Amino acid sequence: MPPIVLLVAKLKKDFPAIQFKAGDDFLWSPSERTLYYGPLDNSDSAALILHELSHGLLGHNDYRHDITLVNMERSAWNRALELGSEYGFTISEQMIEDHLDTYRDWLHARSTCTNCAANGHQIRQFTYQCLACNHKWRVNEARICELRRYDLAK
Ligand SMILES: [Zn+2]
Ligand SMILES: [Zn+2]
Repeated sequence: MPPIVLLVAKLKKDFPAIQFKAGDDFLWSPSERTLYYGPLDNSDSAALILHELSHGLLGHNDYRHDITLVNMERSAWNRALELGSEYGFTISEQMIEDHLDTYRDWLHARSTCTNCAANGHQIRQFTYQCLACNHKWRVNEARICELRRYDLAK
């Protein structure tokens, strides 16, 4: 059996409080307490499963401030690294940095004033206000790990 298939079997046994279901993508659903995993056919699959599992183990849920989402991504990768060494899977630092960069770019894009391009701060869950010109703008909802599916321009 391929190591990744064995890993999923072990995780199901070791974490009975979490449901594992095959899906189209790697995703932690806090409301369903379910880890959906995508195709297990590439070298990132183990890292992504351990990362999503970490969101679950750390109780990651809804958030009110975008910076919290970035911090949750970072802590989920730290936990995934620990799980990786427990289960014998190496997670590359490059992959983690690429993933976190996506979130940093996203945060930067959201917090840039749509009127004058100065930096804004988040005043409500979906609203930012510019520190320079006081302009306010709305942003969309983003869920845990959802960003990875978008190709954000760098
Ligand atoms: Zn502005
Ligand atoms: Zn994540």
